[in-house]
Amino acid sequence: MNDCVFCKIAQGEIPADKIYEDDNFFAFLDINPVNYGHALVTPKNHYENIYSLPDEILCNIGLLVKKISIAVKQGVNANGINIIMNNDGAAGQIVPHAHFHIIPRFANDGLWHWPGKSYPNKEEPAKIAEKIKGSF
Ligand code: 5GP
Ligand code: ZN
Repeated sequence: MNDCVFCKIAQGEIPADKIYEDDNFFAFLDINPVNYGHALVTPKNHYENIYSLPDEILCNIGLLVKKISIAVKQGVNANGINIIMNNDGAAGQIVPHAHFHIIPRFANDGLWHWPGKSYPNKEEPAKIAEKIKGSF
C-alpha cells in the first residue's frame, strides 16, 4: 500500500522509534502516546484489520504482543498493560494497517475505561447472544 504510513515505517521510509523487528513484524513507539512507552505492533505486510489478517499472522502476532507487553512493562516500570486493537473507523481506527496498541498503565495514572451501560430489560442479553451465535 503506497500511501500507508505504517507500511512506510516498516520499510524505513518514515522514521520511528523501533523497539522490535523480525522478518514479518515490526514494533515501534506511538508518536502520540497515552502513556510513555505506548507501543504499536504491526505485521510488515499490509492488512487492513483483524478481519483480513491471515490466521498464521494473527497467531504469531499474538505471541509477539505477549512478548512486547512484558518488555514494555519492565522497560518503563509499568504497573499494568492495556492491549487494544481498533478495527474500523467506528471503533477508532485511524491508520488502516492492522496494529495492536500496547499501553503501559500506572497506578493512579488518571485514565479510566469506557463507561458501562445496562441492558434495557432482562430478555435483551439473550436476544443479542442469539444474534451473535447465528453469525458464525
Ligand atoms: P488507531 O486509532 O488507528 O488504532 O491508532 C493509530 C495510532 O498510530 C495512533 O495512536 C497514532 O498516534 C499513531 N501514529 C499515527 N501516525 C504515526 C506515525 O507517523 N508514527 C508513529 N510512531 N505513530 C503514529
Ligand atoms: Zn500498510
